[in-house]
Amino acid sequence: MTVRVPGKVNLQLSVGPLREDGYHDIATLFQAVSIFDDVRVALAEDRDRQDLFAIMINADHPHGIPTDKGNLAYLAAELMFNRFQLDTPIDITIEKRIPVAGGMAGGSANAAGVIVAIDSLFSLGLSKSEMEELGAEIGSDVPFSIAGGTAVGTGRGEQLTPALARGEYSWVLALSSNGLSTPAIYKECDRLREGMEISAPQVNESLMHALRSGDAKALGKSLQNDLQPAACSIRPALRLILDVGMDYGALGGIVSGSGPTVAFLAEDEDHALDLVVALTSSGVVGNVVRATGPVVGATVIDR
Ligand code: ATP
Repeated sequence: MTVRVPGKVNLQLSVGPLREDGYHDIATLFQAVSIFDDVRVALAEDRDRQDLFAIMINADHPHGIPTDKGNLAYLAAELMFNRFQLDTPIDITIEKRIPVAGGMAGGSANAAGVIVAIDSLFSLGLSKSEMEELGAEIGSDVPFSIAGGTAVGTGRGEQLTPALARGEYSWVLALSSNGLSTPAIYKECDRLREGMEISAPQVNESLMHALRSGDAKALGKSLQNDLQPAACSIRPALRLILDVGMDYGALGGIVSGSGPTVAFLAEDEDHALDLVVALTSSGVVGNVVRATGPVVGATVIDR
């Protein structure tokens, strides 16, 4: 059973004040984009194997990706096995293309892939919303990786409402080989905001309007991420990348989520290609790729 799962960019990420429990309420607008991991789940050949789950990673840089309980895919498998009293060992193979610790929810996408694959493999017959609820127990980005498309996320990002979005958007993604830790970025965000009055997070209405009318120019101007100053503070090179992309005519540029991926919005595919060439030849980014959005969430592609 192979499930294809998309990465995401946050078109907006509004972060509320630090809560007593250490979390932040957020209001975010997710868009699933066409960078995919493939998650393959198969019954293990050795049915009497002690370990229920074996995780294999195929990636250019597999280092730093855990294959035990540290992997969100493992936690998702454990949750599904406990909840539905499954006990046949499985092999999980992840073809990784979504950048690791890149602010594109790669780990969450893999957890989403495992939930959808186990549902199909064991014929559990779960609805999409039931799978999203299970995903929320693993991490706040997992429900969106199942849902895909464009959606508003509130709470910690796990409470989803589909957003009306017209048209297809062309993205250019500047990828970094060194990831950024999400908790470290939130900590830096709190440090930068010390002494400031922070209001409750809200979805930006002009952005929603731009999406509803399929107006890429207006969307580009409305992109907004409260974690961007923190990501740029920890990784100052991101500012340079943002400047270069905007100088070369991007409609908008934003650090995705906790970074360090920088997403630029282009007018169309030709413009995106020009931007890729310009960013690559500028020498400030090593790896630049094109993507389109919105795309569907976790989908079975092979049984
Ligand atoms: P988000 O955008 O949701 O904050 P991210 O895309 O920045 O997340 P991930 O790629 O999900 O970050 O990985 C963050 C860390 O989580 C990694 O450094 C790694 O140690 C761990 N991790 C756990 N599961 C996975 C997985 N399936 N793939 C990659 N990293 C994983």
